[in-house]
Amino acid sequence: MSIKENIKQIKKELPKNIIIVAATKTRSVDEIKQAIEAGIDIIGENYIQEAEAKSNELKGKVKLHCIGHIQTNKAKKAVEIFDMIETVDSIKLAKEIGKRCQSLNKIMPILIEINSGKEPNKDGVMPEDAEQLIRDISTLKNIKVKGLMTMAPFFDNPEKDRPYFKLTKTLFDKIKALNPPNIDMEILSMGMSDSYKIAVEEGANMVRIGAKIFGKR
Ligand SMILES: *Cc1c(COP(=O)(O)O)cnc(C)c1O
Repeated sequence: MSIKENIKQIKKELPKNIIIVAATKTRSVDEIKQAIEAGIDIIGENYIQEAEAKSNELKGKVKLHCIGHIQTNKAKKAVEIFDMIETVDSIKLAKEIGKRCQSLNKIMPILIEINSGKEPNKDGVMPEDAEQLIRDISTLKNIKVKGLMTMAPFFDNPEKDRPYFKLTKTLFDKIKALNPPNIDMEILSMGMSDSYKIAVEEGANMVRIGAKIFGKR
């Protein structure tokens, strides 16, 4: 099926309120333009250099989310090109983003990445540390927490991801109910090509889909 048909099919199956982020690492600008024509208005990129190269050609056509890990020394470039950073997991990175945004007179919407599987080699803050991190970030200027993001552990059967989505949704609801100052808990970004239906069942309102739109990498 074509990119256009894939997107049509995904949109048909998803409730209207679910925001689709097309995960576009390794995809060409031409492929991305096809996705935009089919109604995609947000893309997610993992690597700063790749994102920057594409963003020049896509300026004004689509919103760009950062869905990969950012090193602190790349924060300056990141705040120039991204419309949202979904992968903030430390106060150090948040401070750097805030500082860089201040000089651009910009407020960066961010998500807090949760390491829902508590995997040692994975990015993201541990679930039990998320609330304190959010409280710390809430005092910073030029950066606005908009919700949570998670990459659940990889399994051959996506049904096994369900508990990790549940855990992240529970955390999302808990923090939302605490209503910390300066925080808008609105977005819960979870689920990829294999798992987005399960993620939506568990409360995701943003999904990040690559292969199911563009084909296998
Ligand atoms: C690549 C990627 C996705 C999409 O994965 P697919 O399996 O291609 O749908 C989602 N989120 C992140 C963070 C990614 O790096």
